[in-house]
Amino acid sequence: MSIEQLLILVKPDGVKKSLTGNILTKLSETRMLIIGAKTVKVNKELAERHYCQLKDKSFFGELVDYIQGKIYGESWNRVLAFVYQGNNAIARMRKIVGTTNPEEADPMSIRGAYGRITTKGVYENVVHCSSDSFEAEREIKLWFKPDEIVKHIYPTKEIVLEKEVKEVWA
Ligand code: UDP
Ligand code: MG
Repeated sequence: MSIEQLLILVKPDGVKKSLTGNILTKLSETRMLIIGAKTVKVNKELAERHYCQLKDKSFFGELVDYIQGKIYGESWNRVLAFVYQGNNAIARMRKIVGTTNPEEADPMSIRGAYGRITTKGVYENVVHCSSDSFEAEREIKLWFKPDEIVKHIYPTKEIVLEKEVKEVWA
């Protein structure tokens, strides 16, 4: 048994279909801890970096549009991002999430129950789930800053920033 962290995203189709509650309820069956949570408007750079391993695939352009929620309109172009922690978390979460292709996924899994394949052939499968601990670390560091996670999970360092412009409450 090893403690693992992973990134879960409720993708824009999951947000638009109002599935966040259903998805979180299903994931809570694992009794894993949520150690980071936020809503994110995904820009092209973040989308491309998140899916950098798939950049040679024919569906890459459509995938990058999909994770940005481009086809859903202004109110839905966002994702919910979560960092979960638990024993053997990645394999256990991927089982509940289901396989990549929603048509082949177990119908009791999240993707099997709620996913679809678009006419353009993109798997709109409602959630992202890290695939292994190496990818999980890369993705968590891409989506979250150290102080957005309530546990110390990876080494950090302190840097001094000069002339930093930051938005604060007026
Ligand atoms: N995807 C797709 N068509 C494919 C394979 C993947 O549209 O043939 C999309 C799908 O949304 C998937 C994402 O690309 O979730 C990332 O693919 P990956 O192989 O990493 O699958 P995952 O780890 O999400 O199960
Ligand atoms: Mg993957």
